[in-house]
Amino acid sequence: MPLFGSSGVRGIVNREMTPELACAIGMAVGSLADRAAVGTDSRTSGPMMEAAFSSGLMAAGCDVYSAGLVTTPTLAEAARDMCAGGMITASHNPPEYAGVKLWNPDGMGFDVEQSKQVEKVVSSRKFKVKPWDAVGTRHVLVDAVDRHIERIMRGVGHAKLKVVVDCANGPAYNITPLVLQRMGCRVITLNANPDGRFPGRPPEPVEENLTDLRNTVISTKADLGVAHDGDADRMVAVDDKGAFLGGDQLLALFARKYAKKRLVVTVDASMAIDDLVNAKVTRVRVGDVFVSEAVKRTRADFGGEPSGTWIFPDQTYCPDGILAAARLVEIASKKKLSELRKKIPVYPTLRSAVPFDPSRKAEILKRLEKELRAIDSEELLTMDGFRLQFTDGWALVRPSGTEPKIRMLAEARNDKRAKDIMSMMSRTVKRCLK
Ligand code: MG
Repeated sequence: MPLFGSSGVRGIVNREMTPELACAIGMAVGSLADRAAVGTDSRTSGPMMEAAFSSGLMAAGCDVYSAGLVTTPTLAEAARDMCAGGMITASHNPPEYAGVKLWNPDGMGFDVEQSKQVEKVVSSRKFKVKPWDAVGTRHVLVDAVDRHIERIMRGVGHAKLKVVVDCANGPAYNITPLVLQRMGCRVITLNANPDGRFPGRPPEPVEENLTDLRNTVISTKADLGVAHDGDADRMVAVDDKGAFLGGDQLLALFARKYAKKRLVVTVDASMAIDDLVNAKVTRVRVGDVFVSEAVKRTRADFGGEPSGTWIFPDQTYCPDGILAAARLVEIASKKKLSELRKKIPVYPTLRSAVPFDPSRKAEILKRLEKELRAIDSEELLTMDGFRLQFTDGWALVRPSGTEPKIRMLAEARNDKRAKDIMSMMSRTVKRCLK
């Protein structure tokens, strides 16, 4: 198993994700960087992992600038003046997880090549440690949150709305409510006490975890509600009627305003986006770092993935849930979100999954590709599984990253066509599993 996934290193505390591993990653990064910003989310293991990771950095001669309890986009901003950033976070994973995510000064997460470089040093254990008089120093960054707020405020306007903010018991408590207040909003907070046990709700901002937010928006007659994941690089929302605004709908709202020429989305994004924007759409594999990379490479005006990751390159290549909340509030100040959502088409979407033997993954994927190529389609994308584009719909077939299953998704302009596409995919996948 590679150490780095698409969002850094993650695992269960003191089982896969140990202080020894955090220290080793620190030593590897410390041999590439002279100065690094370090921060942590609100997990119970945060201080332990931050200390271990920082020790590794300093052992390799890197000066550490500790930002303390901050959101991931705040840490990425703090890394702007450094050689690198290291965020101790397991994002939306359950409380028993911890992780390390590494950042470049321009807000891009470490890419595949950089991650491989770190991984190679960690696995070979060939660390370049320094003698006593050359180890790194440790400093406290006291203004990381203020600097992040200032940057966001330069790119958003005034809005006088009532907003409910669900901070997910994470580090968003000290930034999102303040940004929205400075914009002129009245803010009501939920789960604004950082607590690594996540007593308010699980840290993944999916509809079933946001009942309190929906109810509070309705009972306080708020204009909207916003919710983050555990480290606030993600943001999803609830409209003025208390209805959940899913990733595809937010993607459409943001893209309509910000994607003038080019737009980057992940392969699982709805085809509604192609209907709504005139910008050229580039599709990339699922994972925020792939969206950031493509936004930078294609000089896109905006990038997003339906899980709630929004990239506004006029400010940063780091997905920034706080900036996204502020920009959604701006949109909602012009017109009610419940009115705006009516203009976004929702097409029938079907999802299905079949179990498979992961030890046969390579062989099955090879057969699948051959079979899917034989189907008459407009385009076959082969990243992150397979995406088939038809004139009136599309399908995604991909092995799950977390379970031994092949997942299928079909979307089309009408129910019958969605069913047809799904049954065609199911037949093909089942044939390849024999
Ligand atoms: Mg996250």
